[in-house]
Amino acid sequence: MTINIENKVVALAGLIAHGREEAFDYILGENTTKSAMEAITAAAAMLLLADHPILSVNGNVAALSPGELVELSNISGAGLEVNLFHRQPGREEAIDKVLRMNGAKTVLGIGAAASARIDEIYSDRRRVDPKGIFKADVVFVPLEDGDRTEGLVKMGKKVITVDLNPMSRTVQFANISIVDNFIRVMPLLISEVERLQKRDKVELEKIVSMFSNSKVLSDAMNVMKNRLGKLAEIGVFVELNTSM
Ligand code: ATP
Repeated sequence: MTINIENKVVALAGLIAHGREEAFDYILGENTTKSAMEAITAAAAMLLLADHPILSVNGNVAALSPGELVELSNISGAGLEVNLFHRQPGREEAIDKVLRMNGAKTVLGIGAAASARIDEIYSDRRRVDPKGIFKADVVFVPLEDGDRTEGLVKMGKKVITVDLNPMSRTVQFANISIVDNFIRVMPLLISEVERLQKRDKVELEKIVSMFSNSKVLSDAMNVMKNRLGKLAEIGVFVELNTSM
């Protein structure tokens, strides 16, 4: 499915976030960097270590990679919960339908099921499912805003995010930030969960404890800075792409 607003899966604000993403991806070079890969490995280990992991689904991620979200949920044991900034009529149901069409058996957070409230979050996103985000210890919250991440961290939850903007409030607050395009991240995250599935707890804990969020953010900014520097020197985008 493409990003469009006709079927209610994506909200208008989601289109703006998508456009911002494209600009950052251009600067990054439209590739998964070494440090993004480190973050993906740490995220896989954190999901496998969790007692009650949840994948939080908004309209953009449901439109971009619904099949992979369901697959990640199946192989990691994490629940799927729809959680939206804009809970306009019909949107939750539209996203629920997309996930179910891609094989999801259970989708949390739809309608009255989102009966718990998180005081640390302002906006419709404070409404969560008591069986999902409310009791989760690890929440995967890709393509989100900083308030939500900050609220979840304040509640004591571990937060994993995907965001191409290495300066966003989200990536600063999250425990593990993957600075990469969501559509490139999902297949890599699935294969890392598969690869690490049989490793023991001590090994997984070591991967998570060795991870530094500030280091991956600094690396992402350096990749962007160096690439822009080279672009500015050469001035010809096509030549740079073939020589890098
Ligand atoms: P913050 O409050 O964290 O500073 P924000 O107000 O910019 O963030 P949103 O408007 O919700 O938050 O933006 C969501 C973020 O998701 C943006 O930073 C955007 O770059 C990022 N994003 C959008 N699409 C993708 C994608 N496909 N892959 C990775 N990141 C994406």
